[in-house]
Amino acid sequence: MNKDTIFSYIDEHADEIIGFLKKYIGIPSVNNGQQNGGEEKEVQDWLADILGSFGFFIDKWTADAGGIRPNVVCVLKGGGGGNDLILNGHSDVVPINEPGKWKTNPWIAEISDGRLSGRGASDMKGGNTAAIWALKALKDSGVKLKGNVYLELMVGEESCEGRTIGTASAVDRGYKAPFAIVMEPTNLEIHTASVGLFFFELIVPGKAVHVSSRNQVVFPQPFGLEAGYTVGVDALKKSLPFIDLFERLEIQWNQRWRDPVLGGGGHPVSDKQGVGIFTVNPALIEGGTYLGSLPGSMRLVYSVWYPTGTAPQSIWEEIRECVDAIASTDDWLKTNPPVLNMPVLQEWKGFRVAESEPGIPLLRDSIKGVLKHDAVISGFKAVCDATFINERNIPAVICGPGSLSYGVHGDNEYIPVKEVLEAAKIYASFIIDWCG
Ligand SMILES: [Zn+2]
Repeated sequence: MNKDTIFSYIDEHADEIIGFLKKYIGIPSVNNGQQNGGEEKEVQDWLADILGSFGFFIDKWTADAGGIRPNVVCVLKGGGGGNDLILNGHSDVVPINEPGKWKTNPWIAEISDGRLSGRGASDMKGGNTAAIWALKALKDSGVKLKGNVYLELMVGEESCEGRTIGTASAVDRGYKAPFAIVMEPTNLEIHTASVGLFFFELIVPGKAVHVSSRNQVVFPQPFGLEAGYTVGVDALKKSLPFIDLFERLEIQWNQRWRDPVLGGGGHPVSDKQGVGIFTVNPALIEGGTYLGSLPGSMRLVYSVWYPTGTAPQSIWEEIRECVDAIASTDDWLKTNPPVLNMPVLQEWKGFRVAESEPGIPLLRDSIKGVLKHDAVISGFKAVCDATFINERNIPAVICGPGSLSYGVHGDNEYIPVKEVLEAAKIYASFIIDWCG
């Protein structure tokens, strides 16, 4: 098959492809980030119907307890004897937090200066649309493939439920292949690695007491008046050494950790994949329950982003040792130790796909064939469902149109129209080479 035929098909159908993306964005599929907080059903039902009407085999199932969050896999069947391929994307999008900052309606896509606006444009209905139309171009042009293509349109990515009810459930259902591409936005670079992420929670106990007694809690008292811990304990004050500790660990880990390729240590070498740093972020600091009391406890929730290749267990161990050390030097905390829970809420392991994977040079060739320049091999600075595919021993790289910096998880999200069409051509070209 002459790839130019496929590329022409995509150019000729550009208006239809962009019209499809507009409709896709126009059906809100917000995931509020909490467990069971995704409203993907309407958009997923629409996808299954329209892809079915295109003539694809459609598999639709739910893995959530309520049975209201369907995953959709669109299958382009091969004749046998070739490589199978997984293309993976998610249909859920993050909420609109500050509607006043949007210049356009986030649910009505508009094009200006070659940029298509709307929630999910880059993350990642644009990438999904490109993959859908790559398959449609191949099918309508009568291309006969040997391997199967499984295009997965999943739920729950934004709340880390890909591990349970989304992407991982597709692998468990039998969708396996020797290579996978996740269409998250990378400006059409090939991202072969991602950072890892986990959260930990430290609950620091205090002792609530009427605020009028604060003087007795904080200062020595005359005339044998009771003072200190027997009266009350300010949990915020007890938290400060831990807050300071986590700040210092963030600095120390970056200074200590070095990698000849990825940098670290204040980047003595260029941070090639953008994933060679640690960050320790105070995500939630909560405490106090009443205006007239000393805070009786504090809850500190931190996220830790770490370079792939670092064992999270070694990080957990160090945090635990440091917390214990501080607690052991404090009279109150020695007998009322803080509670450290780790990992909690969400955990995403970093991954790195070997550059020797045979899919990578083929993908490079497809990118060069379409973009007319060498493909950039880099790393994903965030986390995504590629983690859960790699966890199940299927090498998954990330390559998609748009960028995390184009308003993703913020306001005025957009995607360059040109990149959507380029992505469709790259996927179609790769499928021809890979599936045979
Ligand atoms: Zn995403």
